[in-house]
Amino acid sequence: MIIVLKPTTTPEQLVNFTEKLKNDYDVKINRWDGVHSTVLGLIGDTTQVDIEYIEAQDIVESVKRVQEPYKKANRKFHPENTKIKINDNVTIGDGSLHIMAGPCSVENERQIVDIAKSVQASGATLLRGGAFKPRTSPYAFQGLKAEGLDLLKIARKETGLPIVTEIMRVSHIDMFENVDIIQVGARNMQNFELLKELGKIDKPILLKRGLSATIEEWLMSAEYIMAGGNDKVMLCERGIRTYETFTRNTLDISAIPVIKKLSHLPVIIDPSHAAGKSWLVEPLAMAAVAAGADGLIIEVHNDPPHALSDGAQSLTPKQFDEVAKKLFSLKKALHS
Ligand code: PEP
Ligand code: MN
Repeated sequence: MIIVLKPTTTPEQLVNFTEKLKNDYDVKINRWDGVHSTVLGLIGDTTQVDIEYIEAQDIVESVKRVQEPYKKANRKFHPENTKIKINDNVTIGDGSLHIMAGPCSVENERQIVDIAKSVQASGATLLRGGAFKPRTSPYAFQGLKAEGLDLLKIARKETGLPIVTEIMRVSHIDMFENVDIIQVGARNMQNFELLKELGKIDKPILLKRGLSATIEEWLMSAEYIMAGGNDKVMLCERGIRTYETFTRNTLDISAIPVIKKLSHLPVIIDPSHAAGKSWLVEPLAMAAVAAGADGLIIEVHNDPPHALSDGAQSLTPKQFDEVAKKLFSLKKALHS
């Protein structure tokens, strides 16, 4: 339930009113303070709430019930876009375009440091790289694990780029303490125990859309993290499974405006896992920027034919440089 308060509401009235609501009903209250109004979002069992009584209060402008099952992730509860500050140079969701780039898997120190330096020179503001890899085959390379995290930190030290890497288990959360953005992969989008634990930490989460997840299921997964108190969630569309087999997945571009309408959370697009083919990365990334994505996550490898994972969809640093130039000029053109 959403209660919009009149701009004339005093802080004292606000406190009294929220205390009364909490005492009278079994609800949690999410407060959003805008320039012109304050919005109270009531979360919990609101069936007992007497709408007429609330509407009759002097300080209340309007009341409406929220049909959607996601509350904290809902734009109705938080009308302005969420901005997630990663460091002094990077705030995601503030209208600027950020590119997270790097290899699918961290393979060795030289590889990750060289790629980090080159993608940074091309304008990437975050470094991606998998240390724990969810592979379809148990015989495929599973990642360098803890050593991969250490190598990412070396690359961050060399370049200053914040690091984004995937977590697969709850028991690893402590190991990820020094990571800047924790990625939840498509396969773990509905690992609810993992999501609940990530809700308890104060760390930005990049939540990928599940292989066959609906937008509502995806938002409910974001809600799991937010319900625990962690509001720093970014939604990453990485292609979904359809009947088409030419591409690895089908990039759902419509997810960008749909999420922007339904939610206040930033949207990141992963054209690499959607495409599965490096030559498709540029057009998909351009479409994502045109449709309003807040950022992109792109796989880049210094030697794609010999990559230990996802070589076919990886750009070389040189190709990435060309693509990044086009993406930033498109972004500029859209705002001019
Ligand atoms: C990845 O980012 O390398 C990855 C495994 O992505 P996804 O979870 O989208 O398949
Ligand atoms: Mn990959």
